[in-house]
Amino acid sequence: MEIKELSLQKAIEGLRTRKFSSVDLTKACLEAMQKQEKNLAAFLEVASQSALAQAKEADQKITEGKASLLTGLPLAVKDNILVKDLRCTAGSKILENYVAPYDATVIRRLKSQQAVILGKTNLDEFAMGSSTENSAFQVTHNPYDLERVPGGSSGGSAAAVKAGEALYSLGSDTGGSVRQPAAFCGVVGLKPTYGAVSRYGLIAFASSLDQIGPITKTVAGSRLVFQAIQGKDPHDATSQNVQIEETKREEKLTIGLLKENLLESVDPRIVQRIQEIITILKEQDYQMEVVDLPHLLYALPAYYIIAPAEASANLARYDGIKYGASMPAATLQEVYQETRGQMFGREVKRRIMLGTFVLSAGYTEAYYKRAWKVRKLLARDFQKAFSKVDVIISPTTPSLPFKIGEKTKDPVQMYLSDLFTAPANLAGLPALTVPVGEIEGLPVGLQIMAPAFREERLFQLGESIES
Ligand code: GLN
Repeated sequence: MEIKELSLQKAIEGLRTRKFSSVDLTKACLEAMQKQEKNLAAFLEVASQSALAQAKEADQKITEGKASLLTGLPLAVKDNILVKDLRCTAGSKILENYVAPYDATVIRRLKSQQAVILGKTNLDEFAMGSSTENSAFQVTHNPYDLERVPGGSSGGSAAAVKAGEALYSLGSDTGGSVRQPAAFCGVVGLKPTYGAVSRYGLIAFASSLDQIGPITKTVAGSRLVFQAIQGKDPHDATSQNVQIEETKREEKLTIGLLKENLLESVDPRIVQRIQEIITILKEQDYQMEVVDLPHLLYALPAYYIIAPAEASANLARYDGIKYGASMPAATLQEVYQETRGQMFGREVKRRIMLGTFVLSAGYTEAYYKRAWKVRKLLARDFQKAFSKVDVIISPTTPSLPFKIGEKTKDPVQMYLSDLFTAPANLAGLPALTVPVGEIEGLPVGLQIMAPAFREERLFQLGESIES
């Protein structure tokens, strides 16, 4: 069975018509791993035994006619989302031996549909990065070209789906970590509206930005998984039920385009590819309008203040006492220092220092509070734009997948990867990346953004671009 080509809808159909079983699907994924993992290194842990047991149970449900939509479909989970009884490392040595005591809400919802959990995928340490090179354990490779990065921080989740090692996966997106790796691996990635999906059981990076989202091969698959995981959860006070608007709209969506000056730092081949898509959409009678987002270029600097500030507070809990690794030392203070000093990687330390600095007395006004003002202004820009257009499209990333090691020496270069993705996190908006072909054998992603809780617009336009 060719898992690489199998979409979720086809897999659901195949299970229903008994063309194959959940055990067949699961075994096919495990075989794909056996063949490719030594080159790809997408997984940190494979739970083959429990996955096969879950697949058997799913097949039982299907036979009894009690299957739900996602029953029996094998998925991979980013290793910062808790799956009970599996290790959850967040890509960090400090949590290397931490075993999840409970299921994240998204996992509980998927398990209630008898989903099959194949294992945990590699990520940048605490989801901080754009290449998966910041993992304490391994570097994941891009299935298109093994010398290139799969993007990050959900690089393992994106590579696994592209390589047919899982039918779909979950990632987390704080500034682009679902969308950028999905674009780099030629698959579909959704960052839901802030609050659409519960963050309970997601290891926190920056709590006002974090969202869990699906990585799939098709837009229809993305919708299916989103519908299964979204909705209010008493364990996450920021979560809400999505009012699925305008399910299908009769008239065509009006598309907002970015001003040309915002595309100056983008690889011209990507700009050209997006332009070709715009031309095709125009031929199909889509209305287009250039939108003014005057604060968009300030999104990245604001993000790199707010995200580290929240991270510095969230990561304070890893002190060598409450969770995970603990280095022996003479005094309590030294336990903290030794544990955090030895167990956190360079990028995590950089973020903690940055975050602590921008929150420190005397600097909060100049940095942190100003960044919040930018955030508000940006949200207002989007609000205005969405009074004229239904969605806004842009490139997902300013560059094609880069070589492993190419940007590790220059953090600012690496941060630029988030140019087009971080704005949706700051404004709390949903955004979807869809593959729009290849340039010299490397995939290109197009991003669609919509007003809060209007995910359906993303899926609708995403599907027509896909076809
Ligand atoms: N690349 C961004 C960062 O390093 C985004 C990461 C994410 O979305 N988790 O912060």
